[in-house]
Amino acid sequence: MVQMLIAGEREAARSGEEIEVLNPATEEVLESVPSAGPEDVDRAVQAAARAFEEWRQVDAEERAAKLRSFAELVKANRKELGEALTQEQGKPTMEAGGEVQHFVHGLEYYADLATKIRGVYQPLPSTLGRSYGMVVRRPVGVCVGIVPSNFPLTLTGTKLAPALAAGNTIVLKPSEETPLTMLRLAALLIEAEIPPGVVNVVTGGAETGEALIKHPLVRRIAFTGSTVTGRRIMELAAPEMKRVTLELGGSDPVIVCPDADLKGAVKTALIARFWNAGQGCLAGKRLFVFDEVYDDFVSALLEGVERYEPGVGWEKPEKPKIRIGPLTTERQRALVMDQLQDALDGGGELLYGGDPPDTPEKGFFLTPTVVQNPPRDSRVAAEEVFGPVLPVWRVSSLDEAIERANDTPYGLGSSVWTHDVRIINRVAQELDAGMTWVNQNHFGYDELPFGGIKQSGYGKEHGIEAMDYYFEDKSVVVGGL
Ligand code: NAD
Repeated sequence: MVQMLIAGEREAARSGEEIEVLNPATEEVLESVPSAGPEDVDRAVQAAARAFEEWRQVDAEERAAKLRSFAELVKANRKELGEALTQEQGKPTMEAGGEVQHFVHGLEYYADLATKIRGVYQPLPSTLGRSYGMVVRRPVGVCVGIVPSNFPLTLTGTKLAPALAAGNTIVLKPSEETPLTMLRLAALLIEAEIPPGVVNVVTGGAETGEALIKHPLVRRIAFTGSTVTGRRIMELAAPEMKRVTLELGGSDPVIVCPDADLKGAVKTALIARFWNAGQGCLAGKRLFVFDEVYDDFVSALLEGVERYEPGVGWEKPEKPKIRIGPLTTERQRALVMDQLQDALDGGGELLYGGDPPDTPEKGFFLTPTVVQNPPRDSRVAAEEVFGPVLPVWRVSSLDEAIERANDTPYGLGSSVWTHDVRIINRVAQELDAGMTWVNQNHFGYDELPFGGIKQSGYGKEHGIEAMDYYFEDKSVVVGGL
């Protein structure tokens, strides 16, 4: 069993309970991890609360240095971490390597910001005597970071790095489906001499997450995961008014205009949908293509889809094939297949895929799938599809494209393919999403704030803006001058 990290020590659950972690490509048990109960959660939060009193006083330079040493160790162990990602989550080696690199970049980005935190000086009217105002930034205290299954490293970094840079301490909880990579980080946190209790890792499922959120010493919760879980987290955080950011599901539209660079649009539509076997919050999940280019676009798209070859992530396919790994769980594959069946029952036309592949024989694989013109109230249009199914519709005007794109409860990302500045200006204003890419793939940059609107959540991760959520700003008036 791989142990948790509490107060700088590797620990099992006091109850002795464990959770098995499967390799989704082989269905074999990889390892087991503790299933933390309320007592373990309490130990972790108490450790974070004790550590906070010291960590908040540590020079920003030193906090930055600790984050950098940790980043260096992650770089030195990149191969092992990438392999762990592939084993437990299923993503191909190349994608896993990209995730490790993104994680390191985020650590370095926030290490740089740790020394650039500024408050405000404000001259005030002298109605009550000469005075001035200041806004001082105080770290919030004990934070909780709850991480989903699809990007176990990147989405740990988006919480851990700004929290520590701002002087907070944190208790992290990975998904029970993909906890192993985060537990490998635990060993590196000890090696990087991050003081005991500053970062703690507890493992478990929903009950462990709920115990963390309800713990009275927790002040701030950074959650990434599904919209359903996000709703529950809001409820649990409400009684004590805990600060919450929610990075939730998405159903990103991709609009391809008549003047689009079709080659680029096809290539990125494929990456945007089939990266990580379609398990991306930011995946391009609904494709709207203008009449004028529809036939050419779809035939190039189908040529591209044929190149994807389902298989184990640690083996490279023969060129020009592209590896697509399994879904992370059997439950997820069954859900995606139900959503697809609903589209077909409603009259959608299956253009490619639609079934688990014949090989590999084991594992939660699904052939990349394209379905044309499913009903607009079908599940692939109305729900988030967290797997490799791409619905495509024809549109005849920009008004129609924007209306269809916005016809979803989600509002995470969106993209448009055009060089027409009038269209760019319109979609920048009118697409209901936290982010719009123009002639680019759906990708989150550390430098730019990222977060959803509508039922994709609220609050920002990435960018300088993410730091705002790790401080309580306090106004101070100084009089008697
Ligand atoms: P999930 O909601 O099932 O689980 C996410 C995390 O929440 C896990 O650690 C899980 O153990 C924990 N959890 C579950 N129930 C809980 C509860 N009641 N209280 C506290 N914690 C609880 O999500 P998932 O299947 O792991 O991830 C996929 C979802 O995450 C998709 O909807 C995807 O779009 C979304 N996501 C969003 C972003 C974003 O930045 N907006 C990024 C990645 C993934």
